[in-house]
Amino acid sequence: MVEPVVVLLGRGRVSVDTPILRADDLGVLRGDGVFETMHVRAGQPWLLDEHLARMRRSAQLLDLDLPDEATLRELAATACDGWPAEVEAALRLVCTRGPEHGGPVTVYATVNPVAPAVRMARRTGIAVVTATLGIPADLRTAETPWLLGGAKALSYAVNMASQRWARSQSADDVLWTSLEGYALEGPTSTLVWLDGEELCTVPADTTGILAGTTAAWLLSQAERLGWRPVRRMVRPADLLQMDGVWFASSLRGVVPVRSLDGVELPPSAATPVVQEVLGYPVPAAE
Ligand code: PLP
Repeated sequence: MVEPVVVLLGRGRVSVDTPILRADDLGVLRGDGVFETMHVRAGQPWLLDEHLARMRRSAQLLDLDLPDEATLRELAATACDGWPAEVEAALRLVCTRGPEHGGPVTVYATVNPVAPAVRMARRTGIAVVTATLGIPADLRTAETPWLLGGAKALSYAVNMASQRWARSQSADDVLWTSLEGYALEGPTSTLVWLDGEELCTVPADTTGILAGTTAAWLLSQAERLGWRPVRRMVRPADLLQMDGVWFASSLRGVVPVRSLDGVELPPSAATPVVQEVLGYPVPAAE
């Protein structure tokens, strides 16, 4: 068993059960803050630059006083220092708005092993059900900054409720849809699909979904796999005809969508290809 790590900015490494938030921290009271979760492989955070850039964008959208880049890099390095190379892990960087009546932001990092069930889903795939967000696909843009489109804010209660609802439907996860019935994203994942020679995902800039680092990196590799990277809208029913449908995220890597709203999707020959290029270990069958 590897001990989880907690590092508080300004204080250093503390034991995992050390209280590090004040009761009036707006991160707790309002979910007011930003965070990033990244994959730790061979003891190092993967795509750290991309995650730090997105954290900066999120902080700008929330008008949050995020520490400078060098400070965050050092925090990430301290958190990963000594983490065993053979244990896949999640590094979280968190920045809350801090005390309600003024005071500095609260910033900390954690490192935890990736849960076995998350790893196993890379092999078994996941059953996904659609659930509407009830908003037009193009609502969350620069014209509606208060909706925080594209920000990875701490307020994930709706995301977690969506996943609990999926489990109540005997599914593993949700694919959120827009008012018009377009597929958007999962509560913690980006939708990726293969349509012939097009490796596709949903455009983030026009929909306000989170711009996924994993999907972006995968699409950046599309040409060397013989595919064209494409960002476009899709309806869930159309996904049933595709040559592969996956959920992508920093911890999961790429997991095959095994069924959508109860309709089985055939295994895709492209799954091992995308998993190999992303470099996430796929556990052996149990
Ligand atoms: N969409 C949402 C809402 C997420 O929370 C996440 C990740 O947590 C993703 C997509 C996937 O993003 P990434 O690949 O950067 O982990």
